[in-house]
Amino acid sequence: MKKVVKFGGSSLASAEQFRKAGSIIRNDSARRYVVPSAPGKRNPDDIKVTDLLYQCYKQAILHDDSEHDFEELLEKIKERYQEIIDGLKLDLSLEGEFRTIRENFTKKAGRDYAASRGEYLNGIIMAAYLGYEFIDAAEVIRFGENKEFDAEKTNEILAERLKHTEKAVIPGFYGAAEGGKIVTFSRGGSDITGSLVARAVQADTYENWTDVSGFLIADPRIIPNARSIEVITYRELRELSYMGATVLHEDAIFPVKKAGIPINIRNTNQPEDKGTLIVEATCQKPRFIITGVTGKKDFASVTVEKAMMNSEVGFCKSVLEVFEKNNVSIEHMPSGIDTMTIIVHQDEFQEKEQKVLAGIHRAVEPDLLELESDIALIAVVGRGMKATRGTSGRIFSALSHANVNVKMIDQGSSELNIIIGVRNHDFEEAIKAIYDIFVTTQL
Ligand code: ADP
Ligand code: ASP
Ligand code: MG
Repeated sequence: MKKVVKFGGSSLASAEQFRKAGSIIRNDSARRYVVPSAPGKRNPDDIKVTDLLYQCYKQAILHDDSEHDFEELLEKIKERYQEIIDGLKLDLSLEGEFRTIRENFTKKAGRDYAASRGEYLNGIIMAAYLGYEFIDAAEVIRFGENKEFDAEKTNEILAERLKHTEKAVIPGFYGAAEGGKIVTFSRGGSDITGSLVARAVQADTYENWTDVSGFLIADPRIIPNARSIEVITYRELRELSYMGATVLHEDAIFPVKKAGIPINIRNTNQPEDKGTLIVEATCQKPRFIITGVTGKKDFASVTVEKAMMNSEVGFCKSVLEVFEKNNVSIEHMPSGIDTMTIIVHQDEFQEKEQKVLAGIHRAVEPDLLELESDIALIAVVGRGMKATRGTSGRIFSALSHANVNVKMIDQGSSELNIIIGVRNHDFEEAIKAIYDIFVTTQL
């Protein structure tokens, strides 16, 4: 058995958290490859080391004459690592590493280089703590000249390197281009590194350890005691991640999906919980009709009305072309016999709205054009919905009970999701109502 384990920032924020991670790793000899993030928040008001590093680098390159500020901040970062080293009673010094980092900051080694030091240093500590080999991600995660990630080259190098390595720590979040220049993934990118390592070693499972007991049916900031999902498919996860549930970096799914490796989201603070298993497909009947509910605020809708538009060949195409020409991407497009509605991101649309409206008038001469803003979209996702009749009906009635006005409802053709449009200010209330009708009342 081979398992790759990735630990998120809050799971490695202090010596105490490191100990929890250590005992999880030692508990199962299959946990041979460890991908750490940088130290995260120790409490809600704390600052992640990654954010400190971005700040520090900004100061280092902005004020050439006030080097002091940057030195001070770097010292603060060093103290955070020292606290972990002391707490773990390790015989390890990062003095030399910090000297190099200070020099490289002065030489303006780049923002990505700066941010990457968070996971790099945490990786060194983790390797010393576990007695595992340390592999610098710069040697094994490859980017191209334009910072584009090179999946195949990376897989080749990683697989070859790890073939001869029994146990190793590979820091998350970064890699390097051919000449050695450090490049990072986007924020939260350690999830991707974990997935790449899992693919390269053909792991049996990719365990992603975080601060919640798996993927929850709804965002815990809206439903405080939301239940966790036992099993979710990659497709369901993608729908939920896309619409705002960001427990796992979106791009972390592809590498393991390709290799058919399940991801298991687990809680470092409650390791006995089984967490969520993310799989390609499953026969396992979901516990509830819906797998999850999530959403995003701040959309706008454009409704085009014209009698008999359905029989007019090319009508939709002409309308959509107006959006394309103005470079506005479309989020959803529910339609009726005489109307079609186009949902767009408000911030992207606002500055172009008059151009778009004029364009539609010219293109299709509608009877009526209506605009609405401050709309939230809610995605109700579940493989179980296909086999169940009346799901939309239940959503409607739950929302009307909660006094939430439904602006739009649109079922995806995969029958995997239903998208509901409500007003921004009804967003939280709507999620609660949907959670209650499909989960709370079913317990
Ligand atoms: P890590 O630092 O371990 O990578 P993240 O902060 O990236 O962790 O992701 C975990 C967080 O995601 C949780 O603490 C929670 O606040 C948030 N979250 C948002 N939606 C959900 C959801 N549906 N289920 C679980 N967590 C969620
Ligand atoms: N430390 C990085 C961040 O804060 C990467 C990660 O945590 O996955 O975004
Ligand atoms: Mg994360």
